[in-house]
Amino acid sequence: MNIELINTGSELMLGRVLNTHQQWLCRQLADLGYVVTRQVAVADTADDIERAVREALGRADFIITTGGLGPTSDDITRDRIAALLGRKLHEDPAIVAHVESFFAQRNRPMPASTRVQAMVPDGALVLANAHGTAPGLALHVSPNPFRPEGKPSWLVMLPGPPRELRPMFTNQVTPLLKERLPLDADFVCRTLRTVGIGESYLEERIAGPLKPLTDAGLELGYCAHTGAVDVRFVARGCGADADVAEAARIVHELAGEHIFGEGDDELEQVLVRRLTERKQTLALAESCTGGFIANRITSVPGASAVFLAGLVTYSNAAKEHFLGVRAATLAAHGAVSEPVAREMAEGARAKTGADFALAVTGIAGPGGGTPEKPVGTVFIALASAAGTKVINPVNRYDRETFKYLTSLQALELLRRAMKRAGEKVGE
Ligand code: ATP
Ligand code: MG
Repeated sequence: MNIELINTGSELMLGRVLNTHQQWLCRQLADLGYVVTRQVAVADTADDIERAVREALGRADFIITTGGLGPTSDDITRDRIAALLGRKLHEDPAIVAHVESFFAQRNRPMPASTRVQAMVPDGALVLANAHGTAPGLALHVSPNPFRPEGKPSWLVMLPGPPRELRPMFTNQVTPLLKERLPLDADFVCRTLRTVGIGESYLEERIAGPLKPLTDAGLELGYCAHTGAVDVRFVARGCGADADVAEAARIVHELAGEHIFGEGDDELEQVLVRRLTERKQTLALAESCTGGFIANRITSVPGASAVFLAGLVTYSNAAKEHFLGVRAATLAAHGAVSEPVAREMAEGARAKTGADFALAVTGIAGPGGGTPEKPVGTVFIALASAAGTKVINPVNRYDRETFKYLTSLQALELLRRAMKRAGEKVGE
């Protein structure tokens, strides 16, 4: 099956907007077993859009365009495609009513230009837009004048804003695709997410034992992120489910302590979930991460049930004042030290009454390093009823990566501690 993606938008070609649709749609489709065969991005000009669509119609069974369905003069996708296929446009009263109520609900007058979004090419299916005004459109091009023997294609137009496009794809395009272009064999895709083990070490552990399955056709893929590695299995045909389940069982057996979740799980989500289940609470004392760990935790819906406080204590005075770190400890060991990390975590736990308190102190760089404490030095402490544990990684990267990796290590320290406390965390 041939699936093609056309991302329209001059802002993409000018580097003003990152083409996240490319990644997101390819990922969604791949997880369903539909692999995109070709993707192009083009400017919002009639010629570029028309040429890209005509070429794709010459090859593909399913084509998705993104962007250019809005009301402004650069939004021409709908018109150009209708013209290319010789379809007339008619106004759809249901869409007019939707656009009117969208503005009425927001207490804003409806600009006349927005009415153009209610224009639908003859024969098109309308994909309702629950988060905006412009609906998506799906056209069954049959016969397809651009393909040998008129072989039909589906052409789906989606709006540009991600918060409109994503639910529309999930709720409306996915069922359409599955119904109209079903896969000819079972397809199973499963991703295990690991942390704290490099991809080559992980491969050393699992590739051999998985060989009988991979020899028999199971696809095995690794995707390394900062501090984390995803292991992906793909199987097709009958027995696909059992093969993937067996592969996952083997990886759990050989590297289970590193697996924190599956699919789109994030470490912070897993932790908030587990803390909620156990009715336990968390506090944070951050120096070098500047609140980044708190940001990750509070990005999870429901974090308020478990997250009590996050203190960004950047100066020594703040560490003393808010966390009760002793001046003598700071003077004797420096702010970036094991004893200070320990006192920060214990102080945060004592002040907030949380079950767990994480603290981080380190040297993000590029300046500030010394021979004993080079740039990248970090102390991460976890205080709990079981005592205080401190780890001391060296994260020598740019500031952004440093913060991200340090936050990951801190969250992983907590996950491991909760796991040792007798719970399965993230598995
Ligand atoms: P609107 O009604 O908002 O004009 P539209 O369907 O006409 O929607 P565009 O005008 O092409 O879509 O894009 C609207 C916004 O959506 C862009 O400013 C951009 O922020 C975002 N966007 C568009 N295409 C992409 C893309 N490929 N990846 C990420 N964001 C995108
Ligand atoms: Mg637009």
